[in-house]
Amino acid sequence: MEQLKKAIRERGKVLSDEVLKVDTFLNHQVDTHLMAEVGKEFALRFKEDGITKVLTIESSGIAPSFMAATDLGVPLIFARKKKSLTLTDNLLVSQVYSFTKQQTNDISVSKDFLTEDDRVLIIDDFLANGQAAFGLIDIVKQAGAHVSGIGIVIEKSFQPGRVKLDEQGYRVESLARLHSLEDGKVTFLDETVS
Ligand code: 5GP
Repeated sequence: MEQLKKAIRERGKVLSDEVLKVDTFLNHQVDTHLMAEVGKEFALRFKEDGITKVLTIESSGIAPSFMAATDLGVPLIFARKKKSLTLTDNLLVSQVYSFTKQQTNDISVSKDFLTEDDRVLIIDDFLANGQAAFGLIDIVKQAGAHVSGIGIVIEKSFQPGRVKLDEQGYRVESLARLHSLEDGKVTFLDETVS
């Protein structure tokens, strides 16, 4: 998605060979116009798949998922990372090791919002090692629902998440695929010459 690649190139900051900071448009300040376009693109790619719910993870997954769910005409559910006083039982829970925080957290979704009749589109902001995606997949499976696909805003293709999801047969749609962040420079997979 050209608009997204332009934002990454012009407004992203390479923090290391492995980490890209995009808090100017996604992770802290949100470019609502760009995120609406991102959501529309996900909706377009999955419009024939009979999606009944969009599932993401708080907090950075919410902005890019919102318009996807709106355009698909389905509810958006976000998995909670923190324990809530009002969210105590009746939960689907999975464990996710956070790439950026380097700690393991429980993520949870109320059993009320996912049923075995659901066809779920999972959306997240980044794909690195696949931990967040597999945690969300685990939650969908616990509900007995179907994972219809995974939408990723920024995939770091040089890390193992994408390959692991491909190997398990999941359909992954990534709107920007990063080949490398080496030497402080972003290169995209579709711009590399093989
Ligand atoms: P994974 O679970 O695939 O290892 O990592 C994905 C999660 O870690 C995303 O939900 C995202 O919040 C965070 N993450 C991974 N890599 C990056 C990165 O390069 N930049 C930012 N801002 N977040 C990342």
